[in-house]
Amino acid sequence: MKFIISVDCEGPACVVGNAGKALSASRDYNFACREATLEANAAARALFDSGAREVWIWDSHGQGLNLCIDQLDKRCKLILGKGFTCRFPGLDNSFSGVVMIGYHAMEGTKNAILAHTYSSESYKNIRVNGQTVGEIALDGAVAGEFDVPVIFVSSDDKGCREALTFMPWLETVVTKQGMGRNCALSKHPHMVQEEIYSGVLKAVNCIHQTKPLKFKSPVQLEIDFKAVSQAVKALVYRRRGWRLVGPRTITKKIESMREWIC
Ligand SMILES: [Zn+2]
Repeated sequence: MKFIISVDCEGPACVVGNAGKALSASRDYNFACREATLEANAAARALFDSGAREVWIWDSHGQGLNLCIDQLDKRCKLILGKGFTCRFPGLDNSFSGVVMIGYHAMEGTKNAILAHTYSSESYKNIRVNGQTVGEIALDGAVAGEFDVPVIFVSSDDKGCREALTFMPWLETVVTKQGMGRNCALSKHPHMVQEEIYSGVLKAVNCIHQTKPLKFKSPVQLEIDFKAVSQAVKALVYRRRGWRLVGPRTITKKIESMREWIC
């Protein structure tokens, strides 16, 4: 068995960021990187203990240079940096499952810690076939195109609830309860790491109950930007085929979620 762990940095225990700032510019960014690393390690250990022969860790937050590499489980391979042409660089159907660590709820979710969808500055809503989605479902559907299921998600309570609405089969661990965009009632990091270890063990045990997330093809993508100027600019920079259908909204029909780039 071979697995990929995608690690974001907003969702780990005790991470709340600062009001009005992205996590990378917040006072707890360094802590977030450290805690994301330890939570990824807990997941990796559970995967190896379940018989995985290969575990890849994808540092998927921001510029892809967040994790404390010298503290990561040395048995893992790492995917880092920015500029990949699709989500889940390197993923193919030889993988048995995806584990999401440190994820967060979609833009606009009430009382969700640091909720956003890829870019807090640009995207107001992203819809797939008319349904508003966040990073959990979009990343899950990209993996689904390779027939790889998401088997586990850790996030705040709102992120876990969102994950289960799209993928009711998966195991979740709630790291903290969102009480506002930048405040939480959090579990202690050590407790969360233990829960992630047990949760991922359970997820691999129940892997036969999971399935790849697939949206009905062709997929109609719609993006509402926060500003008119961003929508116009996006039309210029994005690949061909996008149309402006509202002052701040662009749309495109795609055959496969592999074409999705954020
Ligand atoms: Zn992030």
